Amino acid sequence: MRKLVAGNWKMNGLTADGVARARDLAARAKAAPLACEIALCPPATLLVPVGQAIVGSGLALGGQDCHAEPAGAHTGDISAPMLKDVGCTYVIVGHSERRHEYKESDAVVRAKAAAAVAAGLCAIVCVGESAAERASGRTEAVVVHQLQGSLPPKLGPAKLVVAYEPVWAIGSGRMPTAQDVASVHARIREALRDLTTEAVAVRILYGGSVKAANARELTAVANVDGFLVGGGSLNTEEFWTIASAYG
Ligand code: PEP
Repeated sequence: MRKLVAGNWKMNGLTADGVARARDLAARAKAAPLACEIALCPPATLLVPVGQAIVGSGLALGGQDCHAEPAGAHTGDISAPMLKDVGCTYVIVGHSERRHEYKESDAVVRAKAAAAVAAGLCAIVCVGESAAERASGRTEAVVVHQLQGSLPPKLGPAKLVVAYEPVWAIGSGRMPTAQDVASVHARIREALRDLTTEAVAVRILYGGSVKAANARELTAVANVDGFLVGGGSLNTEEFWTIASAYG
């Protein structure tokens, strides 16, 4: 599988700036395609115009969350078939901001991932430890436990991407060392052998304060198959430089 660099715009952007960013990235991708796959995950309000802006560019579109049900009385929510309908191929589920702000459990995340796959999307399932969990030496146990609870059974690389995002590194400018990232990603790969099919090919992204300045070093870390980028994806030059780290 190609490496994947996904930009999570979170709750940022109105039509003008979101579309301008998407057009800029699409133009760069058409002019000089990168080795990695790139996915843009704008807020739901921008999925359609961003999707239109990237047609023919090779860039992929993703949602930031989906409901576990395909339709129904869930005011304010968006379903996986709806994301598919507007051109998404990916959806992020279990982002730490949703796990914490909305108290989403592993079981909820698993149901959302299963719904995503049922709708024909590839689920980007996020896991990661808190600062307290890291300080008490429980990082790998926490991450494996989250994987066991959050992954639907036996998905393969076309349907599943795992994103390791230490909660304390998200938006903070702080990062684990490359060695720490390597250890956790190796442990995730090992856990995936029991939980997925073709575990060796399931992409494991690193996320948490990835910037142009540190991306290249991270590309050299074993079992890092790309990045999930928050703040750094809101600046076109920064995001393109991050993705360009893969050549
Ligand atoms: C994220 O929210 O997925 C993320 C990685 O954020 P940031 O890059 O800003 O740390």
